[in-house]
Amino acid sequence: MADTSAKHMSRLVEQLRVPPGKKVRLDNDYDPSFKPGWLSKGESEQQLARGVELLAEYQARLAAQDMHGLLVVLQGIDASGKDGTIRHVMSGVNPQGVSVHSFKVPSEEDLSHDFLWRYSRHLPARGQIGIFNRSHYEEVLVVRVHPELLARQRLPATATGADIWQRRCREINDWERYLVDNGIHVVKLLLNISAEEQRTRFMARIDMAEKNWKFSAGDVSERARWDAYQDAFSQMLSHTSTEWAPWHVIPADRKWFARIAVSAVLVQALVEIDPRYPVPDAATRQALAQARAALEAEAPDGVSGAVHSRDVR
Ligand code: AMP
Ligand code: MG
Repeated sequence: MADTSAKHMSRLVEQLRVPPGKKVRLDNDYDPSFKPGWLSKGESEQQLARGVELLAEYQARLAAQDMHGLLVVLQGIDASGKDGTIRHVMSGVNPQGVSVHSFKVPSEEDLSHDFLWRYSRHLPARGQIGIFNRSHYEEVLVVRVHPELLARQRLPATATGADIWQRRCREINDWERYLVDNGIHVVKLLLNISAEEQRTRFMARIDMAEKNWKFSAGDVSERARWDAYQDAFSQMLSHTSTEWAPWHVIPADRKWFARIAVSAVLVQALVEIDPRYPVPDAATRQALAQARAALEAEAPDGVSGAVHSRDVR
């Protein structure tokens, strides 16, 4: 059963991955309400719990090995479920090993630097999982949809030609390759919802008092630019899904499925990294044995010092 499930999950991750070089039309190619036939809502809690458990296990190993980092890039239009996904999927991991950064409108200081500067300041260290809730991809999404934001970036004329978006995509690809070469792996997830699902979620944010804080007037004017955002997403997927950092399009109209799919992609990434607990060398083993003997000698009369002997390697 566990074995079948692992195979299903790895096939699912494969299905969600955007093949490098593929020319994507998001609304044509990816169904926001997709779910595989073998998975039903009834077993969703159990499946997510398994994913959460695996994530916790791998994160502990990642931290112990202290060699690889994992950057999780989470994108999606307003109300696509970015916050909820982070809350549910990361619920089991040690908070010391994870950082989440939500990128908002850039500050004056951000705008005084090159466009990747503010993102590079929040990268995960080795042994850490870092989540970008929105990310450097906003530089080819919201900034593309709103030319006035680009004007605020004070770029020289040579950097704002007609090829700017292609160039930014190339620069992002190069930056991610640099990170991956350095042991900081990059996992990219686009939460894909339909316009109707966004409308329903906005209505809930307006109608339910405890959700009001999530709604801003700007959300409706952004929604009016739905097609421009879909185009920008399609361009992003077409130009920045690479061998070293591919995109995954997560069908997100069903929240329960999106969470399972995200946990499956993260688990798969960690399985591929395959972090291991460090194995002590001969000198360390000897030091451990000596420390153990000294502690054993301090045991009060009648207490066996051998209780945990199976833990000694
Ligand atoms: P939220 O995710 O709802 O908290 O909103 C964050 C806001 O910051 C969104 O409206 C984004 O469009 C905006 N934002 C994020 N990154 C950038 C960026 N690089 N340039 C301009 N606006 C951004
Ligand atoms: Mg918002």
